[in-house]
Amino acid sequence: MNSNRERVLRELGLGPTWRLRSPPAAEELAAAVPLAAPAAEANCDQLGGASSRIESPGDWDQLAATVRDCRACGLCAARKQAVLGVGDRHADWLFVGEGPGAEEDQRGEPFVGQAGKLLDNMLAAIGLRRGEDVYIANAVKCRPPENRTPEGAEIDACRPYLEQQIELIRPRLIVALGRPAAQALLKTEVKIAAARGRLHEYQGIPLVVTYHPAYLLRNLLDKAKAWEDLCFMRRSMRQLKRG
Ligand code: SF4
Repeated sequence: MNSNRERVLRELGLGPTWRLRSPPAAEELAAAVPLAAPAAEANCDQLGGASSRIESPGDWDQLAATVRDCRACGLCAARKQAVLGVGDRHADWLFVGEGPGAEEDQRGEPFVGQAGKLLDNMLAAIGLRRGEDVYIANAVKCRPPENRTPEGAEIDACRPYLEQQIELIRPRLIVALGRPAAQALLKTEVKIAAARGRLHEYQGIPLVVTYHPAYLLRNLLDKAKAWEDLCFMRRSMRQLKRG
C-alpha cells in the first residue's frame, strides 16, 4: 500500500473494521446464499410492471403496503417478504443495491449479511451510520432465487417503487452499488470500471457508481478502488452541501 493511500485511509478514518484481513469463510458466504430455488415463479401475476399499482406519489405507508402485496414480477413466488428499504426517510445519502439475499428476505431489511457488514464499514469510513442521514434500498424488492442477478424485466417491473422512494426521500446524492443498481437508475448499460469516479445524474440528483459490497468480498483487490470511490463520494457530498 503506498503512502498516499495510507494517508487517504487515515483521513477517512478507515480502521481495522473496514480492512478485511482474510477472505470470508466459505460457510459465511454460503450463509448469505439462498438454499432453494423457487418452486413456481410462474404463479405470480405478470402485470407488466409495478407502475400500474401506484396512482400517484403517495406516502410511505401506501408505498410499503403496495410493495408488500406486489406480484408484478416472478420474484414474488419465492420471497418470504418484500424488502422495501431501511433508514432515514429524509436522508441526504441514498445507497441502492441489487436485491435482497436470503438473510435479508428473512429479516426484512437490506444488507444484513456479510455484504451488509462491509457496507456498514464503508459507511463508517466516511462518517456515516445506517439510519442516520442514510437510506438503503435495492433495485428489486424481492429476493432473486439462488442469489442470482435480477433480470432486466424484473428490474423494470420494480423500478417504479425505487423511483417513488427517491421522490419521497429526495436525497442529495445517490450511490449505486454494483451494476444492476446503476443500470436500474441510469437506464443504460453500465460497466462499473468505466462509470466509477465521476458524477452521473438521476433526474437532477447527482449519482455515483461503485462496487457492490458482495463483489468486494469476492474481489479483495478492488477494495482499493472502493476506497477511492468513498473519497470521491465524500468529496462530492461536501461540494453539494456547499451549494
Ligand atoms: Fe413486485 Fe418488485 Fe417484488 Fe417484483 S421484485 S414482485 S415488482 S416488489
